[in-house]
Amino acid sequence: MTLLSNRTLIVGGGLAGTTLAFRLWQNQKSFVLMDTGAGKLSSAVASGLINPVVVKHFGLSWMAKRLVPEAVKMYQNLEEITSSKFFHPLNIFRSFHQPEDILLWNRRRNEEDNTRFFMEEAPAPPLTLSPFGGGIIKNAARVDVEVFMQKTRKFLLDKNLLRSEKFDYTNLQQPSQSEWLYMDEKFERVVFCQGIQSAENPWFQWLPVNPLKGQLLKVNHPFLSNQQAISRKIFILPQGGQSFKVGATYEHSREEGNTREGIEQLTSGFKELIRGEEEDAGFEITETYYGFRPTIPDRRPVLGEHPINKGLYVFNGLGSKGYMLAPWFSEHLYNHIFEGKPLMEEVSVLRYAKRMENRNFD
Ligand SMILES: Cc1cc2nc3c(=O)[nH]c(=O)nc-3n(C[C@H](O)[C@H](O)[C@H](O)COP(=O)(O)OP(=O)(O)OC[C@H]3O[C@@H](n4cnc5c(N)ncnc54)[C@H](O)[C@@H]3O)c2cc1C
Repeated sequence: MTLLSNRTLIVGGGLAGTTLAFRLWQNQKSFVLMDTGAGKLSSAVASGLINPVVVKHFGLSWMAKRLVPEAVKMYQNLEEITSSKFFHPLNIFRSFHQPEDILLWNRRRNEEDNTRFFMEEAPAPPLTLSPFGGGIIKNAARVDVEVFMQKTRKFLLDKNLLRSEKFDYTNLQQPSQSEWLYMDEKFERVVFCQGIQSAENPWFQWLPVNPLKGQLLKVNHPFLSNQQAISRKIFILPQGGQSFKVGATYEHSREEGNTREGIEQLTSGFKELIRGEEEDAGFEITETYYGFRPTIPDRRPVLGEHPINKGLYVFNGLGSKGYMLAPWFSEHLYNHIFEGKPLMEEVSVLRYAKRMENRNFD
C-alpha cells in the first residue's frame, strides 16, 4: 500500500490511538503511532464488554444504535486485517434486583425500536441465583482485550508504523502555522490519545480527564456456563473454557495496585450471583487487574482540535465504555480531520475551552 503525504503523529497506543491509527491506515494516510509500550494502559486491562443497555435503569446506552453496528464492523474488520480472533458476540443475562424490575424491563423493551437489544424475561442460567428473574440483553459482545492489543500492536510494529517510545513534550515545536516539528521530523498534525496521562500534556492539561479506578478478577469456575455473560452489581464474563472475568469496581482513587477491599467486593458480588456449594468447590482467582478509566464529567468523549494551537488534536474521555465508543468516534474524528466534517457539539473539545488559562479565543 502506498502511503500519501499528510503526516500525522498519534501519541498514545491504547484503544483511542489504535482505532484512529487503523482509520488512517485504511485510508492510506501517512502516520506514526508513538506509545511507551510500558503496558500500563486502561485498554489492556478492561473487561472489553460491549453492552448496549445501561445496567442500572435498563435504558439504551447513549447512541447504542449507531455505536454497536460500527463496533461490530470495525472489530471484525480488524480481525481480518490482523488474522486473529478477539471479537465474540454474546448475550447478557441481566439478573433483576427486585420484583418491580420486570415491569421496568418490559416497558423499556417496548420503547422505540428496542427489541433489537432486548429479549423477554428469561430463565436464569444454571447455578445463577436470581430470585426475581431476569432478562436477556441481545447483540452484546466482548473483545478479548489482550489479543486485540497484542495483534493490532504487532501489525503496526511490523509495518514500522508504531514506535515504542515516550513522547517528550519539550521536543515538539511549531516552526510555522502549517507544521509541527518533533525532534527533526515534520508533521502536519499531532493527535493526543493519552487516556489519563493527558493530565501531563501542557497543551491539553486543562481538559477534565479524571481517572476512575477499576479492579477486575480473572477466575476459574468448573461448573459455570460459558455461553453468556451474567450481570447484577458485577459482571461475569466468559473468557473461554472455565475462565471468567469478574468486574469491575468503580473507585475515585489514584492508588496503584489491587486492594483487599476491591478483591473482596468482586468476590462477594460473585458469590451473591452464583450458587454456593459448587462455587466453593471450584472457584479460584487466577489473576487480578486494575486500571484507570479516562472519564469526563459529562460522560462524553472529547475530540477535536486545540482552540488555539492549530494542528494539535485530542481523542480522549472514552470512560467506561471505550470498546463501544472508539470505533464510531475514531471515524468521526477521522472525518473531521481529513474530510472537514463538523464534530458533534456534545463531544467537541471546544465545550471545555473556557477552562484554559489563556482565554484569548473567547
Ligand atoms: C478495570 C477496567 C474495566 C473496563 N471495562 C471495560 C469494558 O468492559 N468495556 C469497555 O468498553 N470499556 C471498559 N473499560 C474502559 C476502557 O478500558 C477505556 O475506555 C479505554 O481503554 C481507554 O482507552 P484510551 O486509549 O483512551 O486510554 P489508554 O488505554 O489508557 O491508552 C493511553 C495510552 O497512551 C500512552 N501514552 C500516554 N502518554 C504518552 C506519552 N507521553 N508517550 C507515549 N505514550 C503515551 C499510554 O502509555 C497508553 O498506552 C474498562 C477500564 C478499566 C480500567
